[in-house]
Amino acid sequence: MAKIVHDDVLCEAHGVCTTIDPSRFELDDDDRLHIHDHEVSDADRPTVEQAVIRCPRQALSIRE
Ligand code: SF4
Repeated sequence: MAKIVHDDVLCEAHGVCTTIDPSRFELDDDDRLHIHDHEVSDADRPTVEQAVIRCPRQALSIRE
């Protein structure tokens, strides 16, 4: 199954992804991003793709 890859170095905690999919992406009090589920099902894919496309730092990608 496809998986989300997150680059900690690129991420600047803009929080766009947490707005798009708050059940999957969460920023903690130290502005570190936590991904609750890395696996991307076909049903979830459109939402995750939006997070990837709209991340202003290109810190998210999907690995097949
Ligand atoms: S949108 Fe991008 S930069 Fe912002 S928290 Fe998510 S992964 Fe990090």
